[in-house]
Amino acid sequence: MVPVPPADEGNVAVVVRVRPQNQREQESNRPPMVQVISDNVLVFDPEESFLPGAFPGFRGHDAPKRKAKDLKFVFDQVFGERATQQEVFQHTTKQILDGVLNGYNCSVFAYGATGAGKTHTMLGSEKDPGIMYLTMVELYKEIEARKDKKHCEVLISYQEVYNEQIHDLLEPKGPLAIREDPEKGVVVPGLSFHQPKSAEQLLEMLASGNRNRTKHPTDANATSSRSHAIFQIHVKQQDHVVGLTQDLQMAKMSLIDLAGSERASTTNARGKRLREGANINRSLLALINVINALADAKSKKPHIPYRDSKLTRLLKDSIGGNCRTVMIAAISPSVLSCEDTYNTLKYANRAKEI
Ligand code: ADP
Ligand code: MG
Repeated sequence: MVPVPPADEGNVAVVVRVRPQNQREQESNRPPMVQVISDNVLVFDPEESFLPGAFPGFRGHDAPKRKAKDLKFVFDQVFGERATQQEVFQHTTKQILDGVLNGYNCSVFAYGATGAGKTHTMLGSEKDPGIMYLTMVELYKEIEARKDKKHCEVLISYQEVYNEQIHDLLEPKGPLAIREDPEKGVVVPGLSFHQPKSAEQLLEMLASGNRNRTKHPTDANATSSRSHAIFQIHVKQQDHVVGLTQDLQMAKMSLIDLAGSERASTTNARGKRLREGANINRSLLALINVINALADAKSKKPHIPYRDSKLTRLLKDSIGGNCRTVMIAAISPSVLSCEDTYNTLKYANRAKEI
C-alpha cells in the first residue's frame, strides 16, 4: 500500500544560506549587500547602478517589497553567516527525514553560483561536516530508536552527472545508464552501493567521492563547478512480523550538490523556457525547468519535462508528486557577487511558489 501524505503539506521548501565574506571580499572594503533581518527575511541592498529598471521574473503579489532600493525577500528559512552546519541541517533536512522513514522519497538541493557555499553546506569538511554526514548520523539514531518494531537496512551511493554522463564516485568506472523499473523506480545499473561501518568510514567515503568529481580541464579554479554530485541514502524497512511482505518499504533521500548556476543565470531569459547553449549545463537548466513547471502546476497541469536531462531523469521519482524537496540557495553577501546573488534570489523566489 502506498501511504498518502497529508494534503496540505507544501512540497518544496526554499531556504537561503548566506556565507561569511572571504578575505578578498573583506578587503574590498564595501559593505555587504545582504542583511539577514530575521529567521525568514533578508534584504538585498544592491548599489544603485546595478538595479535594472524593473524586476523581471517576479510576478504579482510575489514581487519583493521595495523600500527605497532595498529588496525584501521572504523564505521558509534564512540562515545568516553565523549559522552552523547543525542549525542548517536541523531546519532543512531533519524535517524531511521522517518522510523517508515513512516511505517517501525526498530530495535536498544546494543551488547557487560557484563559490557561494554549496559544497560547504552539503559535504562540508572533515572538521565541520555538512548535511550529507549529519543526515546519516540522525538516520542511524532514528533507526536505532525503532529497532524493536522495524528492521532497517541502509545503503548509500554517490554519483555525478557531468556533461550528461553519469559516473560512480565511489567506484569510478565507465559512464552508467539510467533505467526505469516498474517496481524499483529509477535505477542505475552498475552503480555501487555501500554500507559504511562507522562515522569515520562514511566521512572518508564522502571525501574520496568528492575527490573523484570531474574538474574542468582548462580552468583549475572551476573545480567541480560543472558537475552535480548526488549522494543517495536508500532505506529499506520491514516490520518484525514474519510473512507480512506488504509492509516492506523502500525509500530514498537524495542530497545534491548542484553545478554552479552562474552560466544558467546569464542566459536567464525571463518567461521563456531556458534553452541550452554551448556552455550551459543542460542538467541544471532541465532541473530549473522542472521546478518551474511544478510551480505552474499549482494552477494548471502542464507537462513536467523530466526527460530533458540525466539529472532530472535520475531524480524523477524524487521531486514532485508526494516527494518533499528542500532547495537551499547559497549566496555570498559581497558586492563582488552582486549579479550571481540577485539571480539566485530571483530563482529561489520563483521556486517558493510551488
Ligand atoms: P561552492 O560549492 O558553492 O562552489 P564552496 O562550498 O566550495 O562553494 O564555498 C567556497 C568557499 O567558502 C570555501 O572555501 C568554503 O569553505 C567557504 N564557505 C562556504 N560557506 C561557508 C560558511 N557557511 N562558513 C564558512 N565558510 C564557508
Ligand atoms: Mg562546490
